[in-house]
Amino acid sequence: MAEDMQINSQRAKQLAENLASISSRIKAVNKGNKQVRLIAVSKLKPANDILALHQPSNPLQTHFGENYVQELLEKSKLLPRSIRWHMIGGLQSNKCKQLAEQIPNLWCVSSVDSEKKANELEKGRKALLEKQQDASKLRIMVQVNTSGEEAKSGVEPSATLSLCRHIIDKCPHLQLTGLMTIGAIARSQETTPENENEDFVCLRETRDSVAKELGWEEGKLELSMGMSADFEGAIGQGSDEVRVGSDIFGQRPPKQDAVVKEAAVDDKS
Ligand SMILES: *Cc1c(COP(=O)(O)O)cnc(C)c1O
Repeated sequence: MAEDMQINSQRAKQLAENLASISSRIKAVNKGNKQVRLIAVSKLKPANDILALHQPSNPLQTHFGENYVQELLEKSKLLPRSIRWHMIGGLQSNKCKQLAEQIPNLWCVSSVDSEKKANELEKGRKALLEKQQDASKLRIMVQVNTSGEEAKSGVEPSATLSLCRHIIDKCPHLQLTGLMTIGAIARSQETTPENENEDFVCLRETRDSVAKELGWEEGKLELSMGMSADFEGAIGQGSDEVRVGSDIFGQRPPKQDAVVKEAAVDDKS
């Protein structure tokens, strides 16, 4: 459990500084002063790092993002229930039910790109809500492949409306809250406040047209776009949510070297 997890005070200080620096950069570009949610992307980083930023007595950060179901399941068991988890990584249909059922504080799944995955998440959250009435509906973002790259997951912009309708009409235990894109790396690296990112333009146009077709106010369908390399540009282009990993936690280890919980170190010296 969290009580026996060691937090290295120097590491905690560094992480808090990194987080504060990202928050002030967000504030500086957020001209309209709207709410922009920061997700701290902690994939492949130990639970100790997450706990350092979310100490129950003084939580500096509440929203954390993960990419792998197994890793998220393990971390969620070790860490406080007050964390709001976001599953932002590629989904496999056969893991969706367990994901939605076994993590009551899973706040949002941001990478839904098929009806089948939505249906499995629906089954899982329905099962959870039958056991635990105070759990909430599972928020869902539809991932859109705005760059047209074959290797990227996400639905085509033109297929987005139909998947959104499916979630609204057929998945009563899910709540559609927005659209998400990752975008092409090259475009991401060229994004500046002056140089618009085409992927972000595409996501915004897709959102505007989907919202119109649904008869929804645009703000009811949020935009999740922007990572370490391009979050400032994304906010300039209307993002409601940025997902920042390496600028907070540093470079990630290769997957095979990642540890869920760091071994206790003796730092009494
Ligand atoms: C890993 C990841 C991020 C964070 O990327 P950084 O470049 O480390 O900030 C954001 N979004 C998704 C979907 C990711 O997989």
